[in-house]
Amino acid sequence: MKGTFPVERFATIRTPFYYYDMELLRATLQAICKEVRQHQGFVVHYAVKANANAKLLHTIRLAGMGADCVSGGEIEASLQVGFPPEKIVFAGVGKSDWEINLGLDHDIFCFNVESIPELQVIDQLARAKSKTARVALRLNPNVGAHTHANITTGLAENKFGIALRDMDNVINEVSKMKNVSLVGLHFHIGSQILDMGDFQALCNRINDLQLQLERRHIRVEHINVGGGLGIDYQHPNRVPLPDFKSYFDTYARQLKLRPGQTLHFELGRAVVAQCGTLITRTLYIKKGATKQFCIVDAGFTDLIRPALYQAYHKIENISSNLPEETYDVVGPICESTDVFGKQVDLNGTRRGDLIAIRSAGAYGEIMASQYNCRPLPVGYTSDEMT
Ligand SMILES: *Cc1c(COP(=O)(O)O)cnc(C)c1O
Repeated sequence: MKGTFPVERFATIRTPFYYYDMELLRATLQAICKEVRQHQGFVVHYAVKANANAKLLHTIRLAGMGADCVSGGEIEASLQVGFPPEKIVFAGVGKSDWEINLGLDHDIFCFNVESIPELQVIDQLARAKSKTARVALRLNPNVGAHTHANITTGLAENKFGIALRDMDNVINEVSKMKNVSLVGLHFHIGSQILDMGDFQALCNRINDLQLQLERRHIRVEHINVGGGLGIDYQHPNRVPLPDFKSYFDTYARQLKLRPGQTLHFELGRAVVAQCGTLITRTLYIKKGATKQFCIVDAGFTDLIRPALYQAYHKIENISSNLPEETYDVVGPICESTDVFGKQVDLNGTRRGDLIAIRSAGAYGEIMASQYNCRPLPVGYTSDEMT
C-alpha cells in the first residue's frame, strides 16, 4: 500500500521538499490529548528539536501542549508562535549564559539542569536579575533502552544528566542556593523506544528515588519522564499513529505519583514523524554491474537519519504504476553514506518520477545542512495545497 499524495500539485514545486500532512498531525495530537485526559496530572510538552517548522509548532500549540526546548533558539521559536513562557521547559547539557538569561527574562516554567556547575551559573545569573529560577534535576537513571546506541541517553556512560550516586550531594548544593528552587526531577532514556518494558524500568527507578527523597522529607512538584516513544517506520500507511494508549497507561500503572504531583512528558518523534514526507525527484537510473541505482535530487543534507543512524525509511515511487524493480536509492552528495535505502522495491522508476521518503517529519527538515552549498529544503503543509 502506498501513501496518498497530491502528486499533481507536487509536479510544480521545486524538489526536494518536505510535505506535512496536517490532517494526520491533528489526528495525532487529538489521539495524545484523548489519552492524556484519562489521567489526572499528566502534562505533555512537545520536544521542539524534532521539528521546529513554524506551521507545525503553531498547530501543536493550539492543541494545548507546552514546549520542551534545548537551546535559546528553540525558546525564541516557541515564543514566536505563541507558546506561553509558563509552558516552556529548557533542557540541555550545555546551556550558555545568554540562553539561561533568555529563559530567566521570560520566566519560563523550568530549567532542567544537568550538573552542579550549571546550577551555580543559573543561581548567579538569577541573582543578578533578582529572580528565582525553577529547576528540575536531570538524573541519569542508568536505564538502558532497546534502541540504536546513538540515541540511547540514559546509561551511566552517556554524557547526559546527574549520576544517581551524586543526587544527594546535588540536592544539598541546591538547598544552599538562594536563587534556584527545586521543583522537579527529570529523566530521558532515549528515542525510538517501542518496548514498554523500557519505560517500566524507568518507572521502577523513579519509584525508588522518590522513596529515597522522602526519607529526606523532599517532595518535588513534578516528575518529568522525557520522551522517546517510537513510531512504526516500516508501516507508515497501516500504522500512522503510535500506541499512545500503551505508553500513557504504562506510566499510569507503574509510576507512583504523590498527591498533587504532576507527571510531565516530552514527546518529539511520536508527534511529528509520521506526518512528514521528503519528496524528491528521480534524476537518473544508473545500471551498475550487479545492481541499479535510483539517483534522486535529495541527499543527506535534506534527511540525515539514514547516514547518521542507519535509519530505515519506507520509500515509494508515487509517480509510477509500473511493475516493481529493485533499486539502491541514493543522493547526489559526494559521500558514500549518501544512501536512502539499499535493495528497495519500487514501481518501475524513470527520470522525473517523484519519490516519497516516508516518516520523515521528525529529525528531518530540522537537521538539514548546506553541505555542498545545497539550499535548505522548504517545508510545505497540506493546508497550503488545497
Ligand atoms: C530529544 C529529547 C526528547 C524528545 O525525544 P523523542 O524521542 O523525539 O520523543 C525529549 N526530552 C529530551 C530531554 C530530549 O533530549
